[in-house]
Amino acid sequence: MAYSLNGTQAAALGAVISGQSKSKSPRRRKAATQTALAARYQRAVEGLAKGEYTIAQIRPTLFEVRKAEDGHAYKVRFGAGLPVCACPDWQRHGHGHVCKHVLMASMAAARVAYVGFRTAERPRVHVVRDGNPFLLRHVERHSPTGFEWGYAGSGPADLALSILVDYLGNEEAAEGLKGVFREEVVSRLPSTAWMLTEDALVAFFHRHPVRLPVNIPAYA
Ligand SMILES: [Zn+2]
Repeated sequence: MAYSLNGTQAAALGAVISGQSKSKSPRRRKAATQTALAARYQRAVEGLAKGEYTIAQIRPTLFEVRKAEDGHAYKVRFGAGLPVCACPDWQRHGHGHVCKHVLMASMAAARVAYVGFRTAERPRVHVVRDGNPFLLRHVERHSPTGFEWGYAGSGPADLALSILVDYLGNEEAAEGLKGVFREEVVSRLPSTAWMLTEDALVAFFHRHPVRLPVNIPAYA
């Protein structure tokens, strides 16, 4: 795993972030699985954005994801291992599966998280604050066509800068770190879908301290 996470959610969120399938199926089936993964990311983000689901934290590592329409609720448990959901989709696939409830609980658990996935039209990136997703504002420098990730190009450069500007709230500090952030984080994100939690950002800033520009008043 490319990110160092802390606490009990480390393994759980690691699985979410990598979204790796342990399936031994042939490549074509694996590609289909990954498209389904991106679709689950999209449903999770849109489900939260539209208020179709409510998330309740029952215990530090236990969440309940409830569908507003019919009141159906499933419990998602985080622990030392991979997250476990009680829904039929998760039960069918078993350990290591990332269902939409696991995704929504992970997003709600994070103070801030960045979530990217591919739709039929284009790659989309959201910032999720306390479980509320918004489209990430594109700070455009190199890529008029939008965000990209998984390699070190101009789309990934704009994504690196945009995440840093959003998180740090300071364009100058973000500019200073965007190159190394693209190299160490954005270029390594899985192609289909990913979630970047605050833990991953904090780990990055430990390696590369933020230098905030300080305006010292000039006294003559
Ligand atoms: Zn589920």
